[in-house]
Amino acid sequence: MSDEDKNPTPSPQPSPLKGRGGEPSVVSDVAALLTGLKTTLTETFRPVVTTMYPEEKTPRSERYRGRHYLRRYDNGLERCIGCELCAAACPVGCILVIAAENTDENRVSPGERYAKTYEINMLRCIFCGYCEEACPVQAIVLGPEYELSDTSREKFIYTKEKLLEPLPPEVQARLDSKEPK
Ligand code: SF4
Ligand code: SF4
Repeated sequence: MSDEDKNPTPSPQPSPLKGRGGEPSVVSDVAALLTGLKTTLTETFRPVVTTMYPEEKTPRSERYRGRHYLRRYDNGLERCIGCELCAAACPVGCILVIAAENTDENRVSPGERYAKTYEINMLRCIFCGYCEEACPVQAIVLGPEYELSDTSREKFIYTKEKLLEPLPPEVQARLDSKEPK
C-alpha cells in the first residue's frame, strides 16, 4: 500500500465566505466592501499632515544652517577683521576675503584690518557651518533661510553688502542668548 493510500489528503472544506467551488460569494463581497469603507472613513477623520507650502512652513531646528550673515558691533563697526580663517576652513573654497588696513580716517572694524572684499559663492556652499565655527570674532553666522533660488549665477555670489543685511530676529535672539552676561 502506498503512503498516499495510508494518509489520504483531506478534501477542502467550503469557506463560509466562499461559495461551493471557491468562487466569491455575496458574504465575502460585502465583507470586502465594509473593509474598504472602514479604511476610507478612518483616513477621512485623521488629522491632515500636508503642509501648504509656501504659505505655511514647517518649523526648523534652532541650529538649522541656511543663508549667511556678517555681523556688526553695536557701535556700527564690522566684526570681520579680514583674517581669512573662514576661507581657510571652508571645505569647498567658496569664500573670498580680501583684507585692507584700517586707518584713523577710515576705520571699518576694531582690528588692524577689515574685509575690503567678502564674497561667498552660494552655488558651491554646502552649508556645513565650518566658517561660523572658525571665526574668532563671531562675525559670520548662518541664518535660517533656505529659499535661495534666483535667476542668474551672478546673483548667487553674495557680496559683503548683501551679507551685512540685518540679521533675522530669531538669529539675533540665538546669538544674544549665547553672549556672556
Ligand atoms: S557653510 Fe561651509 S561650505 Fe558654506 S561657506 Fe561656510 S564653510 Fe564654506
Ligand atoms: S568672517 Fe571671521 S574668520 Fe572670516 S575673515 Fe572675517 S573675522 Fe576672519
